[in-house]
Amino acid sequence: MKMDEKKIILYPSNWLYNAGVVGLLKIFKEEDRKKINYEKGTIKIPQEWFIPEINNPIPYATKLLVTHILLNENLEEWLKKKDKKGRTNEEKYKDDIKKNFPSNPDEGYKYIRAGGKWFFGSNTPYQNLIQREEWLKFQFFELIKRSLEQDNNGQLVCVFCKRKNIPSDFLKKEKSLEKRLVIFADPHTDELGASIGKFPNSFWNNKSSILICPFCVYLFIHHRLAFIPTSEGEIFINAPDFKLIWDLNRFAEEILKESKEYKIRKILGSSLLQWAIKRRALLGAWTMMNIEVIVKKRVRRNNKFENIIDYFDLPQDITKILLDYEIASLIERINEEKIFDLILSGKFSELEKANYFVLKAILKLKNKEEISENDPIKKYFTNNELKYFQEVSRILPELYAKIFKKREVNMEEKEKINELIKKLKKEGENVNGKEVLAQSINKSGFRLLEQVRLGNKDNVFYILLRCFSANQEKFPDELVEAFKPENEKYFKTLIFSFLTPILGKEETKGGEA
Ligand SMILES: [Zn+2]
Repeated sequence: MKMDEKKIILYPSNWLYNAGVVGLLKIFKEEDRKKINYEKGTIKIPQEWFIPEINNPIPYATKLLVTHILLNENLEEWLKKKDKKGRTNEEKYKDDIKKNFPSNPDEGYKYIRAGGKWFFGSNTPYQNLIQREEWLKFQFFELIKRSLEQDNNGQLVCVFCKRKNIPSDFLKKEKSLEKRLVIFADPHTDELGASIGKFPNSFWNNKSSILICPFCVYLFIHHRLAFIPTSEGEIFINAPDFKLIWDLNRFAEEILKESKEYKIRKILGSSLLQWAIKRRALLGAWTMMNIEVIVKKRVRRNNKFENIIDYFDLPQDITKILLDYEIASLIERINEEKIFDLILSGKFSELEKANYFVLKAILKLKNKEEISENDPIKKYFTNNELKYFQEVSRILPELYAKIFKKREVNMEEKEKINELIKKLKKEGENVNGKEVLAQSINKSGFRLLEQVRLGNKDNVFYILLRCFSANQEKFPDELVEAFKPENEKYFKTLIFSFLTPILGKEETKGGEA
């Protein structure tokens, strides 16, 4: 087997590890990412990217990391910068460059500068993890190579990847890079404000010595790149599936381009919604249950800044609703933030209210009445055009019914109600074919809506019955069903389903007043 064909399989684990993997994926180029396979939640990534070659001591992945670390760096300025002895950085590292980067001094200086920014410089994220000399000798990559080659043949198990790939002699060398890397401790987590007994020790039930293989350390250091800045802190959306994690975080970044002020609840909700629409796939219950947002906040404590970690998730039923392709598409078609906010806060019954106000607004607009500034419809919709309301009036009952269906446990009832909603919609359309009948229902529109909203079943029944009998039309059997006590909790939705085609209908020529 050729070296470049070998791939390392990464399995989703705790959020810290997952964030490391996602941070790593972020630094790769688009064409690199095509060489990564996503399979059943795992990813397979080319091993050669992490291994130094002869005459090329910096592995490919590290070259990309160096570029990333130096994104906002003025290297020229750094090279000219003098230390206390008046020596510039360029002079200081000249010999190292000659020795290790004879053909590419530019790359050498970048490598050293990046190492200083992340590892051996003061006030850097991992300052006690790798020392300058160790970085300059590329020791980290040699240890990664050794650990990867030991895959399941080593003596000790890595708590992150669960592979037996840590040679026991790593622990014997005092003050060595080997030992520092594999014993998970403060230098790994300084940036997270962690100390023993606190996060992230909760992962491992507060065991004091946790072993981690050099390759996982390498993944781990990328976790900070996975975090996305928001107005409520930096966030990372975690899930038990790498493809899902990748997608959700990317969608979150997209959403934040619209507004930096979005709250975490909204970012997560929109990201789930986008996922449902774009991926059209089904997620298992366990996967859904484990979607969470990790929030990293910077706080001032005892006169110094530290990061604290917080967690956020949406209630199960809301996650389930947003991840349903059909529901997500309906929400997107409504295209109204206020409605989306209602769903996000689980105020589903408000949708029924909104439905009522939409139908009422349609009647007003058809009567050439104005929608006043304090009309309740403004609470639900920004767009107040008749055409838009007509469209929304067709979507809302369907949306409400679908949400209800998702939340209901009784399958049989679900099916029955959905069937009835379809039939009532059809009945409403039939009424439209009978112009006089449709007109008289429209004329009673306001009163009808009011009575539905109040849940006055008897009055609703009476008004409708009068419309039908005055026009010598038979009262539809399906409509009778809507009034039955066993369908009590669906009453409003059922009647709205029937009324929507009639009240929401486009104006015919010289239509009713
Ligand atoms: Zn490992």
